[in-house]
Amino acid sequence: MKLVFATNNAHKLDEVRQILGPGFEVISLAELGCHEDIPETADTFQGNALQKAHWVKEHYGVDCFADDTGLEVTALGGAPGVHSARYAGDHDSEANIDKLLHELEKKSDRSAQFRTVIALLLQDRELLFEGIVKGHISTERHGHGGFGYDPVFVPEGFDESFSEMGPENKNLISHRGRAVGKLADYLKSL
Ligand code: IMP
Repeated sequence: MKLVFATNNAHKLDEVRQILGPGFEVISLAELGCHEDIPETADTFQGNALQKAHWVKEHYGVDCFADDTGLEVTALGGAPGVHSARYAGDHDSEANIDKLLHELEKKSDRSAQFRTVIALLLQDRELLFEGIVKGHISTERHGHGGFGYDPVFVPEGFDESFSEMGPENKNLISHRGRAVGKLADYLKSL
């Protein structure tokens, strides 16, 4: 099955292709010839995922899915949430992590979760799939793998950060892994 994934984030593409496996051909926006920044102006993950998927469907007329993801930190009232990519600047992961560690300096509750919502537009159907992984924010960076907040996110039941786990192990338990797993189960059931 051929599906467009409304992203040009190489890390996400790799993760999703790995999780969906060889039965699915996942096409990126660049491969579709789209190099624009798709509007992402909703104030929920669900709203942003739907907005991106509908934009691609309207402009290219293809079945597609889009995701929106963010880190929700309990002591910060769910921030950075939908603003995760631009928490401290424009897609600057190092600055985002510095700001997060600073905001949590005097907080005893360091619990957090990653949440992904995937919106799938398939023919006349519109479906949503959610994946959550709970964990906590460490006091300093650990490891060099992954991207975004991975060096400071330690999933529940583990002693290492997402950065230290390696992609295979991360995908097994991650927010995106869980949401894509649900998407894959649905697509395979068709
Ligand atoms: P997006 O809007 O889905 O691209 O995700 C927003 C931001 O959340 C990204 O720019 C990253 O900073 C962060 N993020 C999303 N997924 C992950 C992940 O798997 N690990 C670490 N950070 C992530």
